[in-house]
Amino acid sequence: MDCCAPTNREGTIKTSCPHCGQNGRRVPLVTLKSLLKPAALATLDPECDYAFCPNPSCETVYFASDGPLTFAVGDLKVPVFQKDSDMDVPVCYCFDWTRKRIMQAVRQGGNPLQEIKAHVQAGRCGCEVNNPQGACCMGNVAEFIRQVNVY
Ligand SMILES: [Zn+2]
Repeated sequence: MDCCAPTNREGTIKTSCPHCGQNGRRVPLVTLKSLLKPAALATLDPECDYAFCPNPSCETVYFASDGPLTFAVGDLKVPVFQKDSDMDVPVCYCFDWTRKRIMQAVRQGGNPLQEIKAHVQAGRCGCEVNNPQGACCMGNVAEFIRQVNVY
């Protein structure tokens, strides 16, 4: 299901988040360069490897797996899906499918997942530079649609 970041397939790295202890998932450096606010970007050490903390209750988004540097939700230009349950937060960042838009589409009998998949297959998605997790959103979209269908 992953589209544009094949390296993330084996991306679980042993390093855990220095704040919550959850295992991080490696993200490409370009993701941080694209999504950090200028003031945070100005502190980036490009020699480090970075991981994404997926824990919803942890404020840390990125941490260096080989250094002390961390970046929190406030350091990003966009809200982070895993850490912000607001309905206006995107699930699919590339094509701006917010929770609200997906929910409306599903309730009207639409199939947002199919639509997103078509864009992915056409090579249009840019999760590496749009999505804070640095990887394809399709798993998150599928999971969110399951939740919509349950409630
Ligand atoms: Zn964490």
